[in-house]
Amino acid sequence: MTYQRVAFIGLGLIASSMVHAMRRAGLAASTAGTARSPETRAIVREMALLDTVCDTAAEAVAGADLVVLCVPVGAMEAVAREIGPHLAQGATVTDVGSVKGAVIDAVAPHLPEGVHFIPGHPLAGTEHSGPRAGFAELFDNRWCILTPPEDCDAQALERLVAFWRSMGANVDMMDAPHHDLVLAVTSHTPHLIAYTMVGVADDLRRVTDSEVIKYSAAGFRDFTRIAASDPTMWRDVFLTNREATLEILGRFTEELFALQRAIRQGDGALLHAYFTRTRAIRRGIIDAGQDTDAPDFGRVRH
Ligand code: NAP
Repeated sequence: MTYQRVAFIGLGLIASSMVHAMRRAGLAASTAGTARSPETRAIVREMALLDTVCDTAAEAVAGADLVVLCVPVGAMEAVAREIGPHLAQGATVTDVGSVKGAVIDAVAPHLPEGVHFIPGHPLAGTEHSGPRAGFAELFDNRWCILTPPEDCDAQALERLVAFWRSMGANVDMMDAPHHDLVLAVTSHTPHLIAYTMVGVADDLRRVTDSEVIKYSAAGFRDFTRIAASDPTMWRDVFLTNREATLEILGRFTEELFALQRAIRQGDGALLHAYFTRTRAIRRGIIDAGQDTDAPDFGRVRH
């Protein structure tokens, strides 16, 4: 059921976490991979993260029965073009990109007949990047969404589902447009709001820099963690999930104006009702095991 040889293209947070999680699960597959820069490849060799570190993506995928594309969304097309002619017949190609529609458009045309393309997205990450940032527990009890094509090979799909489950993830399936809308709500727009809030605080000259940092635990700090996420990855997310993000941002702006008006008019009832509704959503996330209800996000005081 498991794979013989798994090739990773892109060796950052997600790929390295997958390798750690595979090891923890005792998966016997041999591992190969490549990264764009000689520096990252040298780090991965030094870490002994993979069985084989290759200088090119074409070499890395040779003989692999699973290929996982772990590069930023905007880099997927060039990678697919390079590996297409070197893929083994019957191999499965998947990816971990944060946007699905654009990745399918970029990758699918470059894959030969007889290769199964099953796009995926693990909803797990941190604000850290690179191969040293990975850890085996990253996917534990997190969701991995697969967006298989309608005519997907059932056995290939079953194998990939089992692979993600062995790394600790729960697996769900949906079509790519729905994935992109859901993620615009749960991830992409919240990131944009965090980027904006941190940018506003940075611009605000009335509050000195030291005060922004000193009093950051009042809420700002949690925005800064999100706004510290990788700039390349997030640039690509907004460039490729444009429609869904713009739709959610439009709704966000309307709600923001409604709250702004309530504040101006002193409409405490509206504010209280709104905040009561949002508090219940937090409760739902905790009940679903997607966070703990430890105060202050479980931060430990020293
Ligand atoms: P990362 O730690 O920054 O690693 C990215 C890897 O891609 C690096 O090995 C990098 O090579 C390589 N790369 C970057 N630009 C490239 C290009 N133009 N051509 C070829 N290779 C390139 O990123 P990550 O967090 O693992 O994210 C990888 C993918 O997972 C992205 O598609 C992202 O959307 C998705 N994802 C991320 C998260 C998250 O929270 N981080 C969560 C779920 C999904 P060098 O090291 O040599 O530069």
